[in-house]
Amino acid sequence: MQHFPIFLDLRGAPVLIVGGGAVAARKLALLREAGAAMTVVAPEVTPAISALVPGVVRWHARAFTRADVPGMRIVIAATGDREANARVAATAREANVPVNVVDDAALSTFIVPAIVDRSPLVVAITSGGAAPLLATRLRARIEAMLDESWGRLARFADRWRARIRGALPDLGTRRGFYDWLLDGPVASAVRAGREAQAEQLMEERLAGPSKSRPGKVTLVGAGPGDPGLLTLHALRALQQADMILTDRLVSAGILALARREAEIIDVGKTPGRHGARQGRINRLLVVHARRGRAVVRLKGGDPFIFGRGGEELEYLERHGVAYEVVPGITAAIACAAYAGIPLTHRDHAQGLQFVTAHCRDSLDRLDWRGLARPGQTLAFYMGVAELERLRDRLIEAGLPPATPSAIVENGTRPEQRVVVTTLAALPSAARRQGIAPPAMLFVGDVAAFATRFGWFGGTPVADVELLALPAKAPVYG
Ligand code: SAH
Repeated sequence: MQHFPIFLDLRGAPVLIVGGGAVAARKLALLREAGAAMTVVAPEVTPAISALVPGVVRWHARAFTRADVPGMRIVIAATGDREANARVAATAREANVPVNVVDDAALSTFIVPAIVDRSPLVVAITSGGAAPLLATRLRARIEAMLDESWGRLARFADRWRARIRGALPDLGTRRGFYDWLLDGPVASAVRAGREAQAEQLMEERLAGPSKSRPGKVTLVGAGPGDPGLLTLHALRALQQADMILTDRLVSAGILALARREAEIIDVGKTPGRHGARQGRINRLLVVHARRGRAVVRLKGGDPFIFGRGGEELEYLERHGVAYEVVPGITAAIACAAYAGIPLTHRDHAQGLQFVTAHCRDSLDRLDWRGLARPGQTLAFYMGVAELERLRDRLIEAGLPPATPSAIVENGTRPEQRVVVTTLAALPSAARRQGIAPPAMLFVGDVAAFATRFGWFGGTPVADVELLALPAKAPVYG
């Protein structure tokens, strides 16, 4: 190890910064957060620095001299001039005062790491100058892993530390309590911004062992398939789950991210009519949550878009089971993005409708006139089985037969296929290409962009038969 990692307490400590430019200003901002008593030596300083004089920063408007160093806790050289920096470094070394020369590890006696600041939690990262880009990447990963609620949680736990220690003198018991605090309902409540609820949970738990261990159901949107489209909250829920009830549409790559000990039940495969199936899912959710388990109900796309999330919440609410909802990227948004279809476009579509074309009944309830209005994009879910009826109704309601339309099958997955055609030719094109669910259907001028902007998976197939295209639509192929 070339550098020994430490965290310095600089509150009120004299710190010298040589240099007054943008680099110095950045260091100053950080040192200010640490509460250092800063002295800047530089003939000139940026407005950002002079704004801090004299309240926060003492400024000597002149060049550096040897007399500046003695008495300083640390020295930072940020002049931007290698020789000047070297002079500062040499003086500091002689005086045994730790010195950092910005971006010059060779001249420095200490380095300033990249940090992820979730105060009071702070993660410091360095490659010792060997691979700064790697350190930057690592930092980005850690940033993503530790959302800002970690800081809040750490502050919360700190406030309770003395009480916990008093109530649970035994170290083993205390550890168990902290596991519960950091992985359980208290952490969820703090993350959800419900500190009062978290405080109450703490009071109850510290007051004595309770018989009921309240579990919780988290409704999680898994997106349409590509694991990269999961949210950080979804990932956390998967990694904390005791039990996961998943849909057929959730991909294996996403389930692979779940906590290894989690029990996974594929409720999409349960045989039986849909109503009976949904009833069983509801009951499973309640039964397992009541056993105090962290239950995740994992759904394709977004739970609130054609995902029965509302119905499940009604059931949970009726049975007094706590819940949270993590949104997901819905199939329409993701499939459009991966197929290169801008859902709105100032020249082609000013609006967007999400429509389910699940069955004849649901089609009969749709407002076809509204759907046939020009200047919008229609995104149909579950429409593959009803393409003929769907096309006929839209054309009857006035949508031109030549309206560009696209089918995105298995969107965002490696096997994604895109077929671009016209409204009139939709059913025959789908038949010819052997389209099967899951597939999204886009109707509107923007659908034609798929042939130009498609960037993911195979080249889109343009299956347009011999119909003329509207003049303003983009050109195919
Ligand atoms: N809650 C989900 C939708 C569930 S309905 C969401 O927000 O996306 C199921 C329908 O979603 C499928 O019939 C299909 O139309 C669409 N769908 C889901 N995943 C898809 C994918 N990867 N590619 C194309 N369509 C998809």
